[in-house]
Amino acid sequence: MDKKRISEIKTLVESGECGGNSLEEVFARCYSATQKTLGITPFDEQLAAAIALSEGKMVQMQTGEGKTLAAVFAACYAALNGENVHILTFNDYLAERDCGWMGPIYRELGVSVGCITESTPRSERSELYKKQVLYITAKEAGFDYLRDFVTLDPEDTVFPEKLDFAIVDEADSILIDEARIPLVIAGDVAVSDSGDMREIYGKISEFGEADSAFDEDSRNVYLTDSGADKAEEIFGCDIYAEENTELLAKICACLKARDVLTENKDYIVKDGNILLIDEFTGRAAPGRVFPGELQSAAEAKHDLKITSRGRIMGNIALQYFARLYPRLSGMTGTAESAREEFEKFYGLLTEVIPTRLPCARDDKPLELYYDQAEKRRAILNAIKQSADIGRPVLVGSESIEESESIAAELRGMGISCNVLNAKNNAEEAAIIAKAGERGAVTISTNMAGRGVDIKLGGEDCSDKDFVESVGGLLVLATSMRENSRITKQLRGRAGRQGDVGESRFFAALDDEIMQKNDLKGLSGRHYPSAKTEGTLTDKTLLKEAERVQRISEGDSFDERVNLMKYTLIGEKHRELTFGRRKSLLDGSYNSEMWQKNAPELFEKAAERFPEKELQELQNKILAALLNEFWCDYLDYTSYLREGIHLTQIAGRNPSEEYNIACEEYYGSAAESIPERMTEKLKKLLECEKLSDYKVEAPTRTYTYLLNDVGEEFKAKPVLIGVFSESYEEALKNAEQKTEDSSKDPEKKAGFFGKIFGKKK
Ligand code: ADP
Ligand code: MG
Repeated sequence: MDKKRISEIKTLVESGECGGNSLEEVFARCYSATQKTLGITPFDEQLAAAIALSEGKMVQMQTGEGKTLAAVFAACYAALNGENVHILTFNDYLAERDCGWMGPIYRELGVSVGCITESTPRSERSELYKKQVLYITAKEAGFDYLRDFVTLDPEDTVFPEKLDFAIVDEADSILIDEARIPLVIAGDVAVSDSGDMREIYGKISEFGEADSAFDEDSRNVYLTDSGADKAEEIFGCDIYAEENTELLAKICACLKARDVLTENKDYIVKDGNILLIDEFTGRAAPGRVFPGELQSAAEAKHDLKITSRGRIMGNIALQYFARLYPRLSGMTGTAESAREEFEKFYGLLTEVIPTRLPCARDDKPLELYYDQAEKRRAILNAIKQSADIGRPVLVGSESIEESESIAAELRGMGISCNVLNAKNNAEEAAIIAKAGERGAVTISTNMAGRGVDIKLGGEDCSDKDFVESVGGLLVLATSMRENSRITKQLRGRAGRQGDVGESRFFAALDDEIMQKNDLKGLSGRHYPSAKTEGTLTDKTLLKEAERVQRISEGDSFDERVNLMKYTLIGEKHRELTFGRRKSLLDGSYNSEMWQKNAPELFEKAAERFPEKELQELQNKILAALLNEFWCDYLDYTSYLREGIHLTQIAGRNPSEEYNIACEEYYGSAAESIPERMTEKLKKLLECEKLSDYKVEAPTRTYTYLLNDVGEEFKAKPVLIGVFSESYEEALKNAEQKTEDSSKDPEKKAGFFGKIFGKKK
């Protein structure tokens, strides 16, 4: 903590000489405004945190220490110095809450502030994005960014031209745990039902069990050797030839629809449509369709009319979205243990702010049991003991099912409890806020109610003395978490601002994390050979059980580094495509493809249509084609990733091959797009008026989070070689490679070219 700077700020508060916009002066004004409007005095720790945020750091500040207020200081300083600030909150509820709660301070300083949530109409967003400080979830901001990507009308765009500064709240959740989750925008593209999918589906009836296999990790179906032979026989062609890529994809989609997808589990059939069932809510998700060919294949399976195809039109992982901000900072209760990751992925340095009061929470060591039944008995016992004396308990469960089953057992024992499943943030925030009341039993998954303060003795603290006398809040976790950060998050729910409290973690030998990381092998002869009742006490066994967490932590870190080797290139291409599209639509760049590639046709058009409108239309058509190309690119690259592990078998480096293939595909636009532009011009010439020409666009679009896309990379062996060049360098290198490879035909087009052409 920079004590000197903090006392300078306080001196300015007293003297009142703080009219300027230096950090110290703005902070001094915020300080007074906080006292005046909220009636509280900022703590030194909050000033220290705000200084670190202003410096673009990752700030670790424990739960309940007052991060919401600290962010206001940093936001005001940035805003008054000309930056637009986005405070990226953990959920919509918190965006609204924080904006309302902190609003008076901003108004006192003359800084405009607003918030956007899922329910904010698009028509109001443009104005809200102009506010100096905006509270919004990373998800919502990311979706707006993507929506702008697909719209063809510049009037329809809402997202700011230029981003400045983001302060990420609960930063480890957004920047690490959820960093890989892609935000997706998809659109319905009309397709004519040519009947080919139905025909293929009919033909695959000849495929038996041995002809295809399902890869659990990538969740894809692929053909075995016998399947490939059979396919060549039935379809009479080399199915690995490049021109048959689509056929192969369709065959695999049909097999997957037939053998892997289950009606009423994965989807339902309703009014002639296939509707996806959301894994999380268990309900049919409106507007969600299976990706790529799979939707049509499922339609063929049920003999439904194939009318449209859901196409992914754009996506961005939260990680990359955050990196769009030139200046980034973050705050969380647990940054320390992810220090390396924040620095490596985001270039953020971590600063740890000490707690204002010493922590009085009693963190108990891991309690290990023989099996699930033993563990459950112990958990129920611990809850009952607390409930009996009126001590509040917060149970952190691992899944919705576990929460429900614990709740059912407790109710059977006559103990009432609240269950939170992260479904309704506002409602759950109200319940969490009461989790510190006398006798409250609250069962929640990891994330439910994050960011909400738990005060001992209820929201007004009226019963605080009693709750303190029974030991404060007990946090009880039903299993060891995959990483120590989540463990610390959970423990941090108790003992806020020097409160008394306790945290206990339960585990069993047959927990998934223990089995996956081979606790049995690690602990050898210390592993119990027969069922044991009560807690296990073998010291070595316990030590190894604790070590399991560090092993699994390391794995997921490697996984994330790994994934980056695959995603970076797509991000560079997306940036490039988005940039071009944008300049076409806002008129800062004019396409001259028609003039250059079809001068005679263009001449004809120029004679008939007004120059300016013709140019605008050309730009718009090119932007639409870029959209279409981008859809194809996303399809193609996802198809590549599905097959990329094959390169391992051939002794090649998958991430390198992947990057080469992406580069080549992206480069192919230089040929295909001008050709298609000329076709469009011919179509335009058939029109009477310019306005008769309709630019093709999806009939509707929808956004969603793709929770499991990272899965396809899991379980793949560790790959080597990081893709780290700038885009220009990468392009140059790729050109170089293509040149080199023209001498060596084996090398040309990378591995995929090879397998596609293999069976000639
Ligand atoms: P965090 O986000 O760090 O978990 P919050 O910003 O939600 O913490 O604040 C926790 C609680 O502390 C809130 O109830 C808030 O009103 C209170 N608080 C924050 N700063 C101060 C302060 N300077 N003086 C008194 N109470 C404060
Ligand atoms: Mg908070």
